[in-house]
Amino acid sequence: MVREIVKYPESCLTRKSAPVVEFNDDLQKLVQDMQDTIASVKWGRCMGLAAPQIGRNLRVMIVLGEVMVNPILLRLGNKITVQQEGCYSLKEGKFDYYVPRSSMIKISWQDVNGAAQIRKFHRAEAHVVQHELDHLDGHLIGTAKQLAESAKVKEVA
Ligand SMILES: [Zn+2]
Repeated sequence: MVREIVKYPESCLTRKSAPVVEFNDDLQKLVQDMQDTIASVKWGRCMGLAAPQIGRNLRVMIVLGEVMVNPILLRLGNKITVQQEGCYSLKEGKFDYYVPRSSMIKISWQDVNGAAQIRKFHRAEAHVVQHELDHLDGHLIGTAKQLAESAKVKEVA
């Protein structure tokens, strides 16, 4: 079912989301709703969506069609690239943020059945992964909190 994409400053967008514990029908339905919602987007190209964006504070995100449950950051590359980003939870047309992020990220996650996955992402894909991970921790692009948080992570990398 297509869900409405929640807009900032709704509280579900700025809250830290909880891990998924049970890989059950509720999770399947949430993933289906997220997929339907991505397919329904009429402007721009929706490359990712996080569960809080449809009002569920669970650690579920979809990046370029890949369903990622309970993603864990394993490594960020040292090289920083700047890419133009937008967010469907910000006002329509707001697609002009230039965000510095690592150009490589390695994460692990579980698929919708709970099976462990691990993969590296580069360049634009790495940016999308970091953007959606930020959503799960309650950070949106363009907010001071998100910028401070990404700077902090980069110091450790
Ligand atoms: Zn977003």
